[in-house]
Amino acid sequence: MIKTPKLVMIPGPTPVVRSIQDQMARETVAFGDAGFVADFKGVVADLKSMWRCDGEAFVIAGSGTLAMEMAVANVTKRGDSVLICSHGFFGDRFIDMCANKGLAVDTLKAEWGSVYTPEQMDAALSAKKYAAVTVTHVDTSTGVVVPLKAICDMMKKKHPDVMLIVDAVAAAAGAEAWMDWGIDVLLTCSQKAFGVAPGLAILWASRKAVEKRRSLGTIPESYADFERWIPIMNDPSKYWGTPPVNMIWALKESVRIIKEEGLEERYARHIRQAGYFVAGMEALGFRPAAPKEMRAPTLTVFFYPEGSGLEDAAFRAKLGEEGIYSAGSLAGFAGKSFRLGHMGNIDKHILVGAMAAVERACLKCGYKIEPGKGLGALQAGLAKE
Ligand SMILES: *Cc1c(COP(=O)(O)O)cnc(C)c1O
Repeated sequence: MIKTPKLVMIPGPTPVVRSIQDQMARETVAFGDAGFVADFKGVVADLKSMWRCDGEAFVIAGSGTLAMEMAVANVTKRGDSVLICSHGFFGDRFIDMCANKGLAVDTLKAEWGSVYTPEQMDAALSAKKYAAVTVTHVDTSTGVVVPLKAICDMMKKKHPDVMLIVDAVAAAAGAEAWMDWGIDVLLTCSQKAFGVAPGLAILWASRKAVEKRRSLGTIPESYADFERWIPIMNDPSKYWGTPPVNMIWALKESVRIIKEEGLEERYARHIRQAGYFVAGMEALGFRPAAPKEMRAPTLTVFFYPEGSGLEDAAFRAKLGEEGIYSAGSLAGFAGKSFRLGHMGNIDKHILVGAMAAVERACLKCGYKIEPGKGLGALQAGLAKE
């Protein structure tokens, strides 16, 4: 029997292209190796300039959650107040993290499938003195994207002293964000729109955030401390925690691919591909959780068609047999919808393969669709590319 590899269509990890895999398979060298040191330095410099960062960029072994923790650790101190703006599961993840650190936590919550406005943020931030505010660029539980540019503009105008932390784990390199919009800490990790295997936390800190960190003096964290890592990021021949050599090479190849495509085109491509894919799913009767103007370009939560008889666990198991890994939904969305990622190094073959598998899974689960209906809508879009 021919074994077909499964496409990883969950919202991270995302498909890892051959040239990136090849970097992970290279013979590992000493972290002081001159070639590696130059590669590491180059990656950090590229990240800084590509995201228009006037401060520092960090590439650290860890996952996105470490990056979240690191962001909070470096711009707040015990007793500070922080406003957590949440429109889903990952927004909420900051709550315990900040409370356990001894911060006074207030929340601004939007209903799942929706988002708060910059005006609501402004009102909440005006009520008392906050050290920092957290925003989740795309919440992976809902597939909703926040109006980040409008939020940044509001922050610049009304609350320039409050540190703006943006969790862009399910967005960076797939949905538009630039540090010079006024973001203080932007964070992500390797396995989402960068299309690298899991293993790296990636952060950008504005000059203002770096200065804020300096003003805090000694902080309780060590591994998560910007001050420990800045000398390494500026000169990776120095040591503070062994760098994951092969992962950094893999990230370097990912950054090369992103540069070749161009970040602006990459953002635009994500929007176009998401539009085509959602049109295909809608043709099959699936309904995205997010209204059109709030829909993330990187992943979609799809509600099962009414009356389709599709049962979540059985459908996703069948989808797996047909060659696609999908993700179940969380909390209130669980059972009624499922999640598909479409971020990173996604090409036409992958999108067509995914849609075809969805159609076969529908048919095999007894939902009588017209075969090719979703594919037809998707192909009509892809043919414009
Ligand atoms: C995946 C994700 C995280 C957590 O990242 P891990 O690598 O799983 O630790 C945090 N925030 C968002 C928005 C995510 O999508």
